[in-house]
Amino acid sequence: MDKIVRIFFPTELLKGFSLTLKYFLFKPRVTINYPYEKGPVSHRFRGEHALRRYPNGEERCIACKLCEAICPAQAITIEAEPDKVGARRTTRYDIDMTKCIFCGLCQEACPVDAIVEGANFEFAKETREELFYNKQKLLENGDKWEAQLAANMEQG
Ligand code: SF4
Ligand code: SF4
Repeated sequence: MDKIVRIFFPTELLKGFSLTLKYFLFKPRVTINYPYEKGPVSHRFRGEHALRRYPNGEERCIACKLCEAICPAQAITIEAEPDKVGARRTTRYDIDMTKCIFCGLCQEACPVDAIVEGANFEFAKETREELFYNKQKLLENGDKWEAQLAANMEQG
């Protein structure tokens, strides 16, 4: 009997439809139309790496190699030499982004806030080679995102 009632009066189906209509018509959307719309990203988000400069254009990095030493994935490779005035500067600063686990330890170890992880997460590539970042690429990221990176660092 119960089965026959369910066949002729599909109440569960109607309940389901009414719930769908309620959310469709009256509730605020919880999804966003990515990539045209983007959700908020925390200032502590650990995304793509960047090497920062001081406002006068000087590289912040002093080639202390603390980031290289602390990196648990051994993703960072640094070579350094003294520059014309005797200051230590990196001649090579590579990050193998295919090894990186985005732990943020390199940023935390850096005494001069040179290497940082920014909010950019849209750096998917088609080949592995494109994810082998060198110093030029990292400095370009720093120049590109500096305003946002500085604001994030301010917030702690
Ligand atoms: S985020 Fe972690 S794994 Fe990635 S380069 Fe920095 S220290 Fe290494
Ligand atoms: S990025 Fe920071 S921690 Fe790494 S070598 Fe340069 S100054 Fe040292």
